[in-house]
Amino acid sequence: MDHFLYRNGTLFAEDVPVTEIAAAVGTPFYVYSTATLQRHFRLFDEALEGTDHLVCYAMKAASNQAILKTLAQAGAGMDVVSMGEYLRAKAAGVPGDKIVFSGVGKTSDEIRTALEGGIRQFNVESEPELEAINAVALSLGKVAPITVRVNPDVDAKTHAKIATGKSENKFGIPISRASAVYAHAANLPGLEVIGIDVHIGSQLTELEPFRLAYEKVADLTQHLRSEGHNIRRLDLGGGLGIPYVRSNDAPPLPVEYGQLIKDTLGHLGCEIEIEPGRLIAGNAGLMVSKVIYVKSGEDRDFLIIDGAMNDLIRPAMYEAHHDIVPVTEAEAGVESQPYDIVGPVCESGDTFAKQRNMAPLVAGDLIAFRSAGAYGAVMASEYNSRPLIPEVLVNGDQFAVIRRRPTFDEMINRDTIPEWL
Ligand SMILES: *Cc1c(COP(=O)(O)O)cnc(C)c1O
Repeated sequence: MDHFLYRNGTLFAEDVPVTEIAAAVGTPFYVYSTATLQRHFRLFDEALEGTDHLVCYAMKAASNQAILKTLAQAGAGMDVVSMGEYLRAKAAGVPGDKIVFSGVGKTSDEIRTALEGGIRQFNVESEPELEAINAVALSLGKVAPITVRVNPDVDAKTHAKIATGKSENKFGIPISRASAVYAHAANLPGLEVIGIDVHIGSQLTELEPFRLAYEKVADLTQHLRSEGHNIRRLDLGGGLGIPYVRSNDAPPLPVEYGQLIKDTLGHLGCEIEIEPGRLIAGNAGLMVSKVIYVKSGEDRDFLIIDGAMNDLIRPAMYEAHHDIVPVTEAEAGVESQPYDIVGPVCESGDTFAKQRNMAPLVAGDLIAFRSAGAYGAVMASEYNSRPLIPEVLVNGDQFAVIRRRPTFDEMINRDTIPEWL
């Protein structure tokens, strides 16, 4: 569910007409709904009610500080994967003891920054990383709380680029090596082993892969405890998918996911952490774009719009489907026609949809990409020297620009010309 609904034929973001935002900030732009962000956070929080838990929003999905602050005020912790994300979370007011640090390639600089600024735990992905964290912690006279990310070798049944839980993936340590790695960690005086971490992939549309992974985590918890490790926190990652195609069967609900967690792990008495990203932000955001031209080709019509693959790369990168809707609904009874919806970038990959049925559109019309809140703005680039598009946050009948569109001068003047030129 989201808060982007039509009223009298016009698409609204909560109580604000999308047309009003477009008039104020120009197109293309991203717009997020506060109520949807809060609602999705609460669904996870309530799904784990009765269990000691923290929902750590995976901020790589959408990392604007206004989004982070909205979620942090609702009670969220943060899952970060880089120094930039760590500093951004801190800048948004998230305390260090609610930030977990994930990622396969943490540098010593990143580890030092997090240890100095405060960190809930590092989710460690390799033995060399154990050594690196230990060394930095000792140099600071600190003890770093850690979990080890285990790779349970389950098939997440998702797009290959976002599957992470098979043994062929770069993530975590093989579960078969866990005993040895935990023994290694326990011997390092700069580390305190507190738990286990697992994350098997993104956009999962079934619960079964989670069940298989969490059952392995349950067995591993007991095994490691029997070897003397005080396993008291389980970080279960993110990955629950969202319905990109509204007519299809919906993926499992957070409440069903929460029940699965309780069923598979509840008996262990551990604190539970989860790291949802996409499900919190995905349907809380739209990308709004304007039709520049309608071009009739030999055998098809193209909608050429002012948004492009550099603004929303998911269709080009993951063959992702986004529902695309007109901001002003067509009159009842108007017949749809198929369009190829494309951006202006000089690549055939700059195609958002092929032969998508839409009511007839003309130059100047606004369209909205649904489910664009996660892995949208954060993956944008300035390819083709197109400035990053603005982000807007709506809250009831108010809206605010939370990242403005840079001017062309700002973008161009970041280059510096060597003196020999
Ligand atoms: C990407 C990622 C997440 C979030 O995944 P979603 O599919 O957006 O829920 C959580 N944890 C880790 C370690 C990740 O890499």
